[in-house]
Amino acid sequence: MTTAYATSVWTLETLLAQPFRGVEIVPDHDYGEPQQCEWCGEAGALATVRVYGEPTEDIDDIEPIRLKEICPENCAADVILRAVAEQDPRSRKPIRVEVAA
Ligand SMILES: [Zn+2]
Repeated sequence: MTTAYATSVWTLETLLAQPFRGVEIVPDHDYGEPQQCEWCGEAGALATVRVYGEPTEDIDDIEPIRLKEICPENCAADVILRAVAEQDPRSRKPIRVEVAA
């Protein structure tokens, strides 16, 4: 199990390595029991990734990324990229991505 999660962290870091500065990916050793991923709704897809963003107030999106729990396989890249796109340029916080470890 630990290996699978570690792989997820590695995959995400690799995915986001260069073009997306301001994204901070950290392992979470105290994540708790992962739930079904609601973002993709894929059967058996467990949400082991939390994404915290700080979107601009006037974002043209019905559901801006403030806090999402998502699965690494289907959703993480999409949601993180959205969080990057929506991030308030005045925000001094990086987008924080916690991965169950
Ligand atoms: Zn998902």
